[in-house]
Amino acid sequence: MRIAMIGTGYVGLVSGVCFSDFGHDVVCVDKDPRKIERLNNGEVPIYEPGLDELMARNVAAGRLSFTLDLEEALAGAEAVFIAVGTPTRRGDGHADLSFVMAAAEEIAKTATDYVVVVTKSTVPVGTNRKVAETIRAANPDLAFDVASNPEFLREGAAIDDFMRPDRVVVGVQSDRAAEVMAEIYRPLFLREFPIITTDLESAEMIKYAANAFLAVKITFINEIAALCEKVGADVKEVSRGMGLDGRIGNKFLHAGPGYGGSCFPKDTKALARIGQEFAAPMQITETVIKVNEEVKRRMIDKLLDLCGGSFNGRTVTVLGVTFKPNTDDMRDAPALTIVPALVGGGAKVRVVDPQGRHEGEQMLPGVTWQDDPYAAAEGADLLVILTEWNEFRGLDLGRLSGAMARPRMADLRNIYSAGDAEKGGFEAYVSIGRSPFM
Ligand code: NAD
Repeated sequence: MRIAMIGTGYVGLVSGVCFSDFGHDVVCVDKDPRKIERLNNGEVPIYEPGLDELMARNVAAGRLSFTLDLEEALAGAEAVFIAVGTPTRRGDGHADLSFVMAAAEEIAKTATDYVVVVTKSTVPVGTNRKVAETIRAANPDLAFDVASNPEFLREGAAIDDFMRPDRVVVGVQSDRAAEVMAEIYRPLFLREFPIITTDLESAEMIKYAANAFLAVKITFINEIAALCEKVGADVKEVSRGMGLDGRIGNKFLHAGPGYGGSCFPKDTKALARIGQEFAAPMQITETVIKVNEEVKRRMIDKLLDLCGGSFNGRTVTVLGVTFKPNTDDMRDAPALTIVPALVGGGAKVRVVDPQGRHEGEQMLPGVTWQDDPYAAAEGADLLVILTEWNEFRGLDLGRLSGAMARPRMADLRNIYSAGDAEKGGFEAYVSIGRSPFM
């Protein structure tokens, strides 16, 4: 089967590479010439573990290529995937569909034979029908179907998520489109991964409902963590005790500095907006959006407490700024709220992140980037763990505290304990939902 993939970001590139690994012929298109140039040179423009080898293997096998030219990608393609961004629209929280609609227009102008136009981007209910209308209006003679195929991969574990999904969701309106989609996902069907075929609206809704539910779960445990701090309970124990209940499950039940990333913030806002438009308010989701902002602000208060009420003149070392480990993605990371508060309050901020520098340099002005946590801690008044990269999980706390002017730690991912910190020579340790020592 021949597939065209529009967009070579986190979703489009991973999907394109994985489809080619299924044995399909995939041509990926992007409008960003630098991305296509790098891809044609064998470089992966994003950080995603394992993607470089898988990409190289499929390029070498002649199943995967990259181009700026949609016409070249569409030639002979039975399906064209739209995997472009759907960021929050300025001002109203709605998903910005301009990239999706532009891609639909381009397909309409370029396609000549029957093709299934598959929306992989996360889009509000009704968008696939709008895509169909747009194509029909621009090219009334084109034979095509639309399909909704939302993506559930997680950055940092994207290949495994794509190759071994909990489920694949496919929304269609015609048998012909269903057959094409079944052929594309046949390797997963043969390995008995669940493939759910629905109407277009349900497929679109599943993606928003799933992401909003996960945001609720994270925010719930973050709120419980705040109460744990007041009543002397340990949120790690609470979350373990809750998560072992099969009805609840232990995933997305780790307290932290608030959710961020390229999906949860924008998808919760878009769902809230859809609810308002259809007069079915998403009150839980709306509250979660508000509470998550408060969670991030609460982190700043914790840091202020550790700095005696003012950041002015303090040297603060921040470990991790990407929104989670194993990605270079900084979009809506909690660091984008917390680090500017430190810099704005007059702190000298040093940042260490294994992959975040490239993106983070423009997003976090006024900080100094360093590579080594120990060197970055030299003479510092506070150490903040903001993202739980593996590199930060086994640090020599004695060496760190010995290097610092005031050995104080804010562990916003609960990767150490008060006992570890005390033994390691820290004079103060604050984490999430557990008793501090100061
Ligand atoms: P991204 O911003 O990383 O990539 C989008 C790419 O599309 C960019 O390279 C851009 O240049 C390209 N593009 C835009 N318009 C184009 C056009 N007309 N022709 C060719 N290329 C075009 O975005 P992403 O993170 O991959 O997300 C894509 C979609 O997938 C979004 O709707 C997102 O919500 C959804 N999604 C993302 C994730 C994730 O973890 N990132 C997970 C599941 C779903």
